[in-house]
Amino acid sequence: MKDCPLDILPKLPSPDRCCGCSACFAACPHGAIEMKPDGEGFLQPVVNGNLCVECGLCSRVCPVLNPSEPRKPLAVYAAKAKDDELRRISSSGGIFSLLARRVLERGGVVYGAAFEPETHKVVHIAVEDEEGLDRLRGSKYVQSDMGDTFRNVKRDLDHGRHVLFSGCPCQVAGLRRFLDGQPENLLLVDVICHAVPSPMAWQKYLSCQECKEGAKIVRTFSRRNCAWRKYALSLEFVNSSDNAYLVNPSNDTYLRAFCSELFNRKCCHGCVFRYFKSGSDITIGDYWGIERIWPEFSDDIGISAVCINTEKGKISASSVADSVWSKLSDIHDVAQINKMVFDNHTANKKRDRFFAEVTSANFDELVERLMMPPLWYRILRWIKWHTVGRPEDI
Ligand SMILES: Cc1cc2nc3c(=O)[nH]c(=O)nc-3n(C[C@H](O)[C@H](O)[C@H](O)COP(=O)(O)OP(=O)(O)OC[C@H]3O[C@@H](n4cnc5c(N)ncnc54)[C@H](O)[C@@H]3O)c2cc1C
Repeated sequence: MKDCPLDILPKLPSPDRCCGCSACFAACPHGAIEMKPDGEGFLQPVVNGNLCVECGLCSRVCPVLNPSEPRKPLAVYAAKAKDDELRRISSSGGIFSLLARRVLERGGVVYGAAFEPETHKVVHIAVEDEEGLDRLRGSKYVQSDMGDTFRNVKRDLDHGRHVLFSGCPCQVAGLRRFLDGQPENLLLVDVICHAVPSPMAWQKYLSCQECKEGAKIVRTFSRRNCAWRKYALSLEFVNSSDNAYLVNPSNDTYLRAFCSELFNRKCCHGCVFRYFKSGSDITIGDYWGIERIWPEFSDDIGISAVCINTEKGKISASSVADSVWSKLSDIHDVAQINKMVFDNHTANKKRDRFFAEVTSANFDELVERLMMPPLWYRILRWIKWHTVGRPEDI
């Protein structure tokens, strides 16, 4: 296979800017584009120069090359499902499930990210019932593989079915460009997105935990059945007595490294989809800091920040209003603590070292080593500990 030189068509963003949404792959009528993992495990389009006819369609559907204008949501709510059990099995307020159920009730289909049972990879799938919907609940902190999702969404829409597509803002933006707009029967829901971690880092982390436990992982859950503010992962090992090992974010290498920007996709540090540029109808996130604004509304089961971005979003949100407790809010209140609404985090300085060493090193040891605070900080901490006795305050 001959790969296209970068200076001829098709013009696609450089690997550092590509978000991996797969719109170019889905749009290519000649099958000239494949999505392949790069050295960091992120999927990137690779063009087969023998099949490419330089039609330029891939460049036209690329959401990174064709960014949209910033938007302001029509309305923003703090919201939680009245059903506490639903919130316990969701990441925040359970709003995604309520919207999805409406679509399923109308014979529609819902697309979102799920863990693949055997491999624990995160992939986009289509679901048509409550059992399927359960697989979509919970934020999976790994970039999902879209596979043929965009083409399947188009097929379902062309058959006149109601479709809810959920995903990260770049995926929603990619789907909109692939479809060249948004048909009436499509509802687009995205999440406020911190960044997406590398699928390779996730697999290395899982192998490391399997080695430590001496047993295979049979199931993984993310942000479910745990206190909302202590968002956590659970790993279910084949031989575990209580059948679940709850990973606490403050001592877990994967979650700490994710929050410290050690292995997130490069383009996320310059994300071009913040400010609601994805074109989604509804954006859902965590309403961090709600306890400061409405302490009586706050609890540790989960509260969502729900941003209604379009008239279609407004109609869908009203259709679930009976099942939701909500308070009218403001995007600036949400963004006060939830910085990811508008801002990007910079990459960790040791990001390149992580990817240079991850294939040969033990995952936990590598993360511990790279994330160890500098010597001056540890000395300061030691002194403070022995004088004041409260190292955590430094
Ligand atoms: C990678 C990632 C980063 C996030 N960062 C933030 C943040 O910084 N601030 C914030 O407020 N909220 C963030 N969220 C969103 C938040 O965690 C909740 O997903 C959101 O509040 C919806 O909650 P829920 O209870 O309605 O949804 P749930 O019922 O828990 O549903 C989860 C939804 O997220 C989608 N999803 C799950 N994993 C992925 C994935 N890997 N890729 C694409 N879509 C996925 C599912 O398709 C589903 O639509 C992030 C989510 C993800 C996936």
